[in-house]
Amino acid sequence: MFFAVITLFPEMFDAITAYGISGRATKRQIAKVTCINPRDFAQGNYKRVDERPFGGGPGMVMMAEPLAKAITHAKALAMQAGCQHAPVVYMSPQGKTLNETAVQQFVHYDGLIVLCGRYEGVDERLIQHYVDQEWSIGDYVLSGGELPAMVLLDSIIRRLPDAMSDEQSHVQDSFVDGLLDCPQYTKPDHFEGLDVPEVLKSGHHANIEKWRFLQRYQRTLERRPELVEHVELSAQQKKWLKDK
Ligand code: SAM
Repeated sequence: MFFAVITLFPEMFDAITAYGISGRATKRQIAKVTCINPRDFAQGNYKRVDERPFGGGPGMVMMAEPLAKAITHAKALAMQAGCQHAPVVYMSPQGKTLNETAVQQFVHYDGLIVLCGRYEGVDERLIQHYVDQEWSIGDYVLSGGELPAMVLLDSIIRRLPDAMSDEQSHVQDSFVDGLLDCPQYTKPDHFEGLDVPEVLKSGHHANIEKWRFLQRYQRTLERRPELVEHVELSAQQKKWLKDK
């Protein structure tokens, strides 16, 4: 999948391209991440990308022109990379809140252009003309869109086919089927007076599967009861709950 990120701080994206699952996916070209700096499209000796807001008030606003040129360049790169349609996403606290359902939809795109704001945000006219979607990572304000963009990229890239060595490893992740994940244990058997549940050491796969499901269900009821209403249970899962 092709990603063009429009950012004043391209170096920050090393966190995505150099480490972990997203780093490996980048090296194997499963994800191609290109950063575009709007400063490269700014005019004048100072390469200004921000100006004071009309109407006064604190802070600066990112100017529409350099961003428009950066987005146009990103679209040309997306076309060269063979993307039919790479929507422009602006990371914004005013956008829709990102969740697993949205991430799973993004995975079907062949490209994405992600705009990271700074300062007080970007000129509204740029959003009107160039932005297709606005996404937030939660109801709080960060200093810039880079961390939110990295959250978006990481959540998508780990879901791309072949990005993970064990294809099944995200199937049980929290939210994938609407429930939270079950508790996880590894060696040693005993840790500070706490033991690993016996069933997990039994080698009995059916019992382990049942235990994990009941743990996930119970956890979700306790921590996020509103999620349980929307979960579609299989006949087997319903039976496990009935027999509990
Ligand atoms: N004045 C803006 C407001 O209150 O809506 C906030 C601007 S914020 C300091 C600078 C940039 O950080 C934004 O343009 C956006 O790109 C990014 N940002 C901040 N919080 C975010 C969030 N929760 N989700 C996504 N992006 C966010």
